[in-house]
Amino acid sequence: MLKPDRLFLSSPHMSGNEQKYIQEAFDLNWIAPLGNNVDGLEKELANYNATTGAAVVTSGTAAIHLALRLLNVGPDDSVFCSSLTFVASVNPILYQGALPVLIDSELSTWNMSPKALKRALKEAYKNDKLPKAVIIVNLYGQSARMDELIEICDSYGVPIVEDAAESLGSEYKGGKSGTFGRYGIFSFNGNKIITTSGGGALVSNDEKSLRKARFLATQARDSAIHYQHSELGYNYRMSNIVAGIGRAQLEVLDKRVQQRRAVFDKYFEAFNNIPGIDFQPELENTKSNRWLTALTIDPKQTGVSRHEIIEKLAEENIEARPVWKPMHLQPLFAGVDYYPHEEGNSVSDFLFEFGFCLPSGSNMNMEDQDRVIDIIRNLFKM
Ligand SMILES: *Cc1c(COP(=O)(O)O)cnc(C)c1O
Repeated sequence: MLKPDRLFLSSPHMSGNEQKYIQEAFDLNWIAPLGNNVDGLEKELANYNATTGAAVVTSGTAAIHLALRLLNVGPDDSVFCSSLTFVASVNPILYQGALPVLIDSELSTWNMSPKALKRALKEAYKNDKLPKAVIIVNLYGQSARMDELIEICDSYGVPIVEDAAESLGSEYKGGKSGTFGRYGIFSFNGNKIITTSGGGALVSNDEKSLRKARFLATQARDSAIHYQHSELGYNYRMSNIVAGIGRAQLEVLDKRVQQRRAVFDKYFEAFNNIPGIDFQPELENTKSNRWLTALTIDPKQTGVSRHEIIEKLAEENIEARPVWKPMHLQPLFAGVDYYPHEEGNSVSDFLFEFGFCLPSGSNMNMEDQDRVIDIIRNLFKM
């Protein structure tokens, strides 16, 4: 069998059961587009997260877009979003012609800073420009400080969309990550903790909104036997074949969380005692799925820079990457308002300058990880 020998940050890890669900779809000729696997995955995902329901779609990005549509985000509205994230968290704001406002991170989670959010909302309130929504991202599997963020948003009556694309299977104070906002979104992209090759989901406790989301995601077709449309819709529904992969993947999600956490623990053990190295913390009373092991390195203290580590691993055909480039530093969002953690202290700038991610796939074997660790250890000896 052909196997790429490159070691990736995160690659698809099949359970072996995927073909069974796909075969079932073939046997029933339920190939397109909806069917038993779509219904099954929606129920199973809702059960897993203890939400009223779920709507599965073609991507996590599509799920965020639908959430913004459900919240009636339109031109001239603003939407707040974590700055330290993947561009897909913010792009749907632009799809709606609305204005993003970017919020910094804080160090205990690397996620949205309650202090920065508070300042931003206070100012927006003063200017009579409260946002239509706040998109809170849970980076690399770690939940944001949801209690504080929810309290601040509630005090201004602003709904939360939880971007849990990276934190499926993680927990916050006993609840599943992605279930703390009005809407939560997940991604099943190829590099996420479980994958359908490509896909996403919207979860909520409001069944009416989920029905509306499914309606918008299937071209917003009115109930008439002819094709009638009163609203703008999209072709965002997940196919029944793809959903079959998702059902088999969801069965092994908890195992994948365990495996990723074991990968993290091994890196932690290897490097945590080196002064100048700090791993992404796990906030008290939360459980990260440790989608990617992320850490910062201070070259002044260690004598080794992030760049050197990434380069050295690349020479050995191993993928490592800097943490996400914050959105307020992206050319696409030049000129967009940005609220740092404190005036003159941008935490996401710091994380971007010194932070990086190591290969963290659940299908990585012991020897692979030992190889990564040895290569980095050798750098420290130089
Ligand atoms: C992957 C990801 C998304 C988008 O998911 P897709 O399924 O790739 O569209 C959104 N937000 C974050 C934080 C992500 O990591």
